[in-house]
Amino acid sequence: MSRSINLAVIPGDGIGQEVVSQGLKVLNAVLPQDVKLETKEYDLGARRWHRTGETLPDAELDALKGHDAILLGAIGDPSVPSGVLERGLLLKLRFAFDHFINLRPSKLFPNTETPLAGRPDIDFVVVREGTEGPYTGNGGSLRTGTEHEVATEVSLNTAFGVERVVRDAFERAAARPRKKLTLVHKNNVLVYAGHLWKNTFDKVAAEYPQVTTDYLHVDAATIFFVTQPERFDVIVTDNLFGDILTDLAAAVSGGIGLAASGNINPTGAFPSMFEPVHGSAPDIAGQGKADPTATILSVALLLRHLGYEVEAVRIEDAVSADLAERDGTARTTDEIGDALAVRVAG
Ligand code: ATP
Ligand code: MG
Repeated sequence: MSRSINLAVIPGDGIGQEVVSQGLKVLNAVLPQDVKLETKEYDLGARRWHRTGETLPDAELDALKGHDAILLGAIGDPSVPSGVLERGLLLKLRFAFDHFINLRPSKLFPNTETPLAGRPDIDFVVVREGTEGPYTGNGGSLRTGTEHEVATEVSLNTAFGVERVVRDAFERAAARPRKKLTLVHKNNVLVYAGHLWKNTFDKVAAEYPQVTTDYLHVDAATIFFVTQPERFDVIVTDNLFGDILTDLAAAVSGGIGLAASGNINPTGAFPSMFEPVHGSAPDIAGQGKADPTATILSVALLLRHLGYEVEAVRIEDAVSADLAERDGTARTTDEIGDALAVRVAG
């Protein structure tokens, strides 16, 4: 295991800066003395775009490549036209670094809010495909702006792309105690892509007899997320279904302030990027109200990815204990970061 971490930090916009500084605080506190942490901050996001018109210049993309991992706060501001930062920065990074795994764990921690009755035992992880599906910019519009406009948005699915995400999901399922993997798609209607997913899933399943498998159409999956979330362990699904399902997952399991994610390239060929699921929340930026826990849990995913399993678990346990002992008084961003830094160090 490498005993140094060379981390790129993109604080970004809105509450991004506030939550990232708490993430770094906890990272510094949890790392053993002999692990050398180097960080370099990158000024990317809405402010940069307003100043220079740039989203992600090639020089910075190149520099980012040299890091072990990237910690991102949040990108986006209502003052930037929709799509500019998403396509020019977030998706550009995801495609350039081939982040084909988008990992989003959902766990209902003690003392947190859920709209579900009976506080079900939620502990599952969604493995969302990150580089294909309808997110490749493959489409177009004819007679744009007229009443005869025709728009297409093609969902791209390759045997290579589907197999590598399905394999990764089987590996993750095999490593968990329950060893259960659910494929979510819509192969009764989206037959071409759906069959590629289902056939690939069945083929790889034969190599993992220890993993219990299951298939759900995405519409049925949304119902089970609400009525029986405890039935899920690992879920593998395409880019768009995964996007929607993981927001629903965050909503039923403690809210957006707790949802962590990783954009992962498991081959290690490029740095993986870890970030809270929430956005820049301009409505609460600069007020010390943002909950940094999602970012701190993203730091745990980052550490696990780099091989620091003990430290990752220590952060997750600290979050769990901190929430269990919470008495309901509102805490500032900084207070939550401080409390977790103390717990992981002790
Ligand atoms: P984006 O398009 O960037 O995903 P969004 O419109 O989905 O942004 P978010 O930035 O995710 O919105 O925020 C949605 C709401 O949730 C915000 O209004 C904010 O009040 C709340 N929120 C988001 N993140 C946090 C957080 N870490 N702590 C507390 N509240 C948050
Ligand atoms: Mg959002």
